[in-house]
Amino acid sequence: MNNIFDTHCHYDDRWFDGDREAVLERVLGEGSAVSFVNHAATDEASALFGIENAKRFRNFYTSVGFHPEFASVLPDDWEQKLCELYELAKATGKLTAIGEIGLDYHYEGYDRDKEIYVFEKQLDFASKKDLPVIVHSRNASQDTMELLKKHGSRGVIHCFSGSAEMAKQAVAMGFYIGFTGVLAFGNSKKALKALNEVPMDKLVLETDCPYMAPPPYRGQRCESPMIAEVIKVVAVQKGLSEQQVADMTCENAKRLYGINA
Ligand SMILES: [Zn+2]
Repeated sequence: MNNIFDTHCHYDDRWFDGDREAVLERVLGEGSAVSFVNHAATDEASALFGIENAKRFRNFYTSVGFHPEFASVLPDDWEQKLCELYELAKATGKLTAIGEIGLDYHYEGYDRDKEIYVFEKQLDFASKKDLPVIVHSRNASQDTMELLKKHGSRGVIHCFSGSAEMAKQAVAMGFYIGFTGVLAFGNSKKALKALNEVPMDKLVLETDCPYMAPPPYRGQRCESPMIAEVIKVVAVQKGLSEQQVADMTCENAKRLYGINA
């Protein structure tokens, strides 16, 4: 199999500190099953990592944005920073999206009002720049969907963990749905039901690495080629060959991120 597009990865994670260069060269080099990766930025340092590697590797793309996890600890001038990061990323010719942005209601300690404020500001920014958004939504489906609708946003709901109903609604709004290795977990009935609601032209795949490695790699550090295990599941569910799934989801990702390579 070839032509895997990992639409959402975090090779800046500490888990890669020991051998990051070797991993990137293996994942992005000749003979890899992976054609493209997109780095999902979470804060300023993470965006700079994405920009630097977009310059270094032909098939490495990047987004810029602030993850909801950092909403309550953002510096006062974060909007100015977002503009600067946008300009730097744009100059590489490989800026894909504003993300990952969104709402995370999983942890009690987070300031929800601040999350909503930061999310809406970034949705506006993306609209102004005519860019898609990479949406992180955890235990916050209803608020997420309302805000996306309110701002007329387009993009991808990443690491989809919502219901089949939410998938249906997001697709109707023109969104792409990103699935991780979770789809291949033994207890993934909810994810499979959601997958059924996603037409093949709206489906994209991702690792969200280094976490969520699919079986048989569960618990190990995840890397982009492991998407092959997710592709196997999709192929069975959709009645397609594995290569067809790889090709179609790669095309979708290029369309989503505006890539003409
Ligand atoms: Zn992520």
